[in-house]
Amino acid sequence: MEHETLAMEAADVFYGAAQALHGVSLSVARGEVVALAGRNGAGKSTTLKAMSGLLPLSAGVLRLDGKALSTPTPEDMNRGGIAYVPEDRQIFPTLTVEENLAIAKVVRRGGSTWGVDDAFALFPRLAERRRALGQALSGGEKQMLAIGRAMICAPRFLLLDEPMEGLAPNIVSGLVESIRSIVATGVGVILVEQNFRVPAELASRFVILDSGRVGWAGDKAALETDTARVSSLLSGT
Ligand code: ATP
Repeated sequence: MEHETLAMEAADVFYGAAQALHGVSLSVARGEVVALAGRNGAGKSTTLKAMSGLLPLSAGVLRLDGKALSTPTPEDMNRGGIAYVPEDRQIFPTLTVEENLAIAKVVRRGGSTWGVDDAFALFPRLAERRRALGQALSGGEKQMLAIGRAMICAPRFLLLDEPMEGLAPNIVSGLVESIRSIVATGVGVILVEQNFRVPAELASRFVILDSGRVGWAGDKAALETDTARVSSLLSGT
């Protein structure tokens, strides 16, 4: 599995005339968690959107398992096993938990054996809430639903945009355990958060974006020794 990777190399991404990413490189292998942090507007969401085919690269390249993809669409990336869970979670408010999960079966990759019951096994709380409407869920339940729904597509790589945002500490620790069990099945995760407090428990590599550029990158040991640089890049988050 170690040659199975998702990588973005030297990517420039624009919104109209405004450049949001400048030569950003980031990669993740199966079974690994890479944490991506940075201040507001640093380019974290833009990076995940670019890696899921939702935003085009003006320069640079996306590679899946080492192979360059030319102008990949979100459908191409989904077929390649990339699932993106956006910050707003995109739960259908007037559908039940069960219906929100069932919808994912429509875009499920060929060969996926994941179903609604597997999402319930991963998040037992969702089974208890199966008939609740999306709009009635707590923040933590919405996040579980968004991740459970992404898992139904049997991703090889899961891109999570600030999944811990606004959640109570006990909910956060439950989510950390769920992500750990997903990773143990061989899924590679890019975990975006504003800082490394929670990601430090899960990730082996750490990347900081600073004004659309990689400002710092390192492993766990580097994170522990380079504290001054890391906290100055993340200050104000
Ligand atoms: P946050 O923590 O606030 O989500 P972020 O690190 O995810 O921040 P991005 O959302 O990727 O940052 O934004 C990067 C830059 O691109 C910012 O300057 C932002 O204003 C700009 N930007 C983001 N989305 C758009 C858009 N749809 N149109 C124009 N500019 C955008």
